[in-house]
Amino acid sequence: MAKSKKKFKTEVQELLNLVIHSLYSNTDIFIRELVSNGSDAIDKLRFESLTKSELIDNVSSLKIKIIPDKASNTITVSDNGIGMTREEVETNLGTIAHSGTRAFLDQLKENVTDSPDLIGQFGVGFYASFMVADKVKVISRKAGQSSAVKWESSGDGSYTIDDTEKECNGTDVILSLRDDKKDYLEEWTIKRVIKQYSDFVEYPVTMDVSREETPGDKEGNEIKDTEKVTVIEEETLNSMKAIWMRPKKDVKDAEYNEFYKHISHDYTDPLSKIHYFAEGAIEFRALLYLPSKAPFDLFTRDERKGIHLYVKRVFIMDDCKELMPEYLRFVKGVVESNDLPLNVSREILQEDALIKKIQKSLVTKILSTLKEMKDKKLEDYLTFYKEFGPVFKEGMHFDFANKEKIQELIMYESSKTNSGELIPLKDYLNRMQTDQKEIYYISGENRESAENSPHLEIFKKNDIEVLFLTDPIDEWVTQSLTEYDGKKLKAIDRGDIELDFLKDKEKSEKSAKADDKKYKNLIKHIKSKLEDRVKDVKVSSRLTDSASCLVNDEFGMSAHMEKIMKSMNQDSPPSKRVLEINPKHPVAKIILTLFKNDTKNKKLNDYIELLYDQALITEGTPIKDPLKFNKLISELMVFEGKKLTEKK
Ligand code: ADP
Repeated sequence: MAKSKKKFKTEVQELLNLVIHSLYSNTDIFIRELVSNGSDAIDKLRFESLTKSELIDNVSSLKIKIIPDKASNTITVSDNGIGMTREEVETNLGTIAHSGTRAFLDQLKENVTDSPDLIGQFGVGFYASFMVADKVKVISRKAGQSSAVKWESSGDGSYTIDDTEKECNGTDVILSLRDDKKDYLEEWTIKRVIKQYSDFVEYPVTMDVSREETPGDKEGNEIKDTEKVTVIEEETLNSMKAIWMRPKKDVKDAEYNEFYKHISHDYTDPLSKIHYFAEGAIEFRALLYLPSKAPFDLFTRDERKGIHLYVKRVFIMDDCKELMPEYLRFVKGVVESNDLPLNVSREILQEDALIKKIQKSLVTKILSTLKEMKDKKLEDYLTFYKEFGPVFKEGMHFDFANKEKIQELIMYESSKTNSGELIPLKDYLNRMQTDQKEIYYISGENRESAENSPHLEIFKKNDIEVLFLTDPIDEWVTQSLTEYDGKKLKAIDRGDIELDFLKDKEKSEKSAKADDKKYKNLIKHIKSKLEDRVKDVKVSSRLTDSASCLVNDEFGMSAHMEKIMKSMNQDSPPSKRVLEINPKHPVAKIILTLFKNDTKNKKLNDYIELLYDQALITEGTPIKDPLKFNKLISELMVFEGKKLTEKK
């Protein structure tokens, strides 16, 4: 195929601009990124060779070589891994596969000055080369193919791609260094960077190192007064020690962190790590990490690097979903087992009893680590919960066996916490009123809407704490979290509220009965008018300040949930709710008087409509006929206004 010049996708160019204008101050990491890519490519080749042994001649020749060249001002990172076809080069280096890139870039542009390391949430990977180079060339040959491809770009909007030749499979990334980055041609700089960032890479990272040597005689003794000669030797710069195989006490925090960045392609240090060897009935080694930041596309990402599975020191895959339940999909790390077959496939993994046992052990370990974090390092736990809580809570639904442990880790804001402050269910229980039988909660879009809900009025008045469920997933979670420590969870915008543990219960019961009687006929009338929209009309015992509100029956979908479903384009039939009217409210009293005086009064219907619309507005549901609503309000304003101006 002929040479062609192509434009980068807009996203790539925007990302490149951000990289070039060095968002990230530590430029050393470009070497780490390229070495990681090389090591991933060798992993892939080794994996393929399990079924196609002809792909690798000699396992010990697998390596990543760094080639600095002062004459041409270039540094090359070369690997003999899987390589890329022309199509792969184009998709991998000309576009960004991650979904949600657009949103990320917008966020990044807005926050560039405040938080330059935001880019850490998005592994720029290969593009990091442009932090130090004004031109990047990639030459790649896919294993098992004879043709090679050359990709070249200056990061200025376009790249060229052409056929070329290459002696063996693998990829060479050749960077023409910017004038101020020539330091990366120095032997000691390269050695330092590799030691710091890529020491644990499992393949040799090598470099030709020159040494002045005095020639020796046959016995190896130096020959005096002879000229020194330059000897070039290929030196391995990394120790290649698999970090998860080393005893915990021998691994430094910095090493753990670097390894995390290597496997996760994250730029930020992890929040916590779990490193253990399981011995006994099942044997395996695990090094797991809890990231400190959720990727911006936590919910939408289709491809991710999660748990790397190794069998007998051979890399098998970098996202072994079978080892981690979905609700812990943010956990990264490595698991190595010697009891699995090397040719293990996805199908085998899904059915494998050993894998299931390992998964169980990993989950137990993660949950106990989180519990310990919550008890001893609450601040860290809150960081975790803020970032991953929405995903973690899915566990309530899917991990029945660990439900009890998970519910101890769930936290909510409440009507008695400050904004942003979270409490576990246990604390709620400890603060409950004497004889209170249920745990009360309300769901809403955010704290403000929960706080302003008319349903909260009676609870506020009686100083009863109500949990605020403001995460879109919360209401769904309550389907599994129906009870905690023998106390039922009760939505305060649903069904009847029985606050019979309150002291002045008798008094309020008497008054409720009297109200029921007083309003009986009006309620019937309202019901007939709103028949098509409400399920029932009742005198309310939960309102103190508002005139009306809408209430679900015990199992109905809340207004909040309905909104979520709509936003997900999931049409659910609009549910009919119960309209409750506050008998003590002046508006209700006026309507009652109007009704008693003349049941045919035209204004009566208008007021009933307004009462209903007000209830819709407070729960955040759009009203059917805003024009009519406005007209009625205007009329009332004119009426009221006239009275005010006449007085003057
Ligand atoms: P990431 O490594 O995070 O996926 P990169 O931008 O670094 O992102 O690389 C994009 C893709 O390009 C990789 O996923 C891989 O498929 C391919 N790639 C990059 N470098 C190499 C390499 N040295 N050998 C083979 N494929 C590579």
